[in-house]
Amino acid sequence: MTTPTPDLFTTRLGRRAFGQRAARWSLAGTVALIAAACGGSAATKEEVTALEDDLKSLQLEVRRLRGGSTAATDAHGSTSAAADTHGTTAAADAHGTTTTAATSGGHGDVAHWSYEGAGGPSEWASLAPENAVCGTGSTQSPIDISFTQSVSGGRTVFKWDPNTPLTVVNNGHTVQANLDKGSRIEIDGTPYDLLQFHFHAPSEHTIEGKQVAMETHFVHKNEKGDLAVIGVLHALGLENGALAPIWTALPTAEGDQRSVPSFDLLSVLPRDRQMFRYAGSLTTPPCTEGVRWHVMQSPTTVSQSQVSAFLELFKGGNSRPVQPVKARDILREAA
Ligand SMILES: [Zn+2]
Repeated sequence: MTTPTPDLFTTRLGRRAFGQRAARWSLAGTVALIAAACGGSAATKEEVTALEDDLKSLQLEVRRLRGGSTAATDAHGSTSAAADTHGTTAAADAHGTTTTAATSGGHGDVAHWSYEGAGGPSEWASLAPENAVCGTGSTQSPIDISFTQSVSGGRTVFKWDPNTPLTVVNNGHTVQANLDKGSRIEIDGTPYDLLQFHFHAPSEHTIEGKQVAMETHFVHKNEKGDLAVIGVLHALGLENGALAPIWTALPTAEGDQRSVPSFDLLSVLPRDRQMFRYAGSLTTPPCTEGVRWHVMQSPTTVSQSQVSAFLELFKGGNSRPVQPVKARDILREAA
C-alpha cells in the first residue's frame, strides 16, 4: 500500500513547491486511504495505525502552512516560563516573545512568528492586530546605517558590572542572558537599567550595506519605561573570548536555561566605542516603536565555530531584514 510521504512536505523545498493546496490534496488522499483501509478486510491494524500517523503529520503540516502552530512551536508554555525569569515584562517585551505567548495563551497560537516561511518577517504584521506596526510603522528596526546621513551629537556612559552572574535562556527565538539590576547606561545624563542581552545571526543592522556574522543587543529601560538598546556587531574572525563563557553554556533546547556564575559585560564592547544613534523599534513582533538604538560602529569578532554553534540552534538565522530609514536622522556619537 502506498501512502503519501510526509517527508516531502516537511522540507522547505516541498513546502514552497507545493504549498497549502498540495498539502490539502495529500491530506484528502490519506483520509481516503484510511477510509479504504478501514473498510477493506485486507488492511492490517498496523497499516491503519501507520496511515493514522501519516494523517497526524499532515494535519500538523497543514496547520503550519496556514500560519498556525505545530507541536514544536506550542512549546510557548516553556517560553513563558523562561520569560518569567526576567522578573520584568519589559525585558520580555524587548524581544516580543512573552507578549505573543501571553496574549495568545500559548496553545493554538495564531500569532506565532518565525524568521522564514509561514510566520516570517513579511507576514509579522498580519499575524496579530498588535503586530500591525511591523508593517505600517515609520521608525522600524533594524536599518542600514549610512555614514552620509550621520551628524554628531550625544553622550553615552557605560556603568556595566564587570562581574555579573547570568541566567542564559533559549526562548525559541534567540539565546538571551538575563541579569539582576545593577548595570546601567546613562544617555545624556538619563539612567537606563540593563535588563538582558541576546544574540542575532547574521547581524540585523548593516553599515554601508555590509552585514556581519552576528550582533548582540543589550536591552535597557529607564524609569519611564522607555527602552534603549546597545547593538554590538561581530564580524567573522578570531574567537570572541568575551562571549565564550556563554557559548560553553548555550542552552540547546527551547525553554532550557543555564547559569553563568560571572560575566564581564564591558568586555563585549569594542575598544572604540564610537556609535550611531537613531530612533527605532523592537526587531521582533510586536515591533513596538520608541526604542532608542545605539549601534557600535566598530565590530568585534566571532569565530566560525561560535557562529555555527549558534546557527545549530536557530537554523536559517534569526535576523529581521533591514527596514526603510524614511525621514530619520542618524546621529554619530563620539567615543
Ligand atoms: Zn535583538
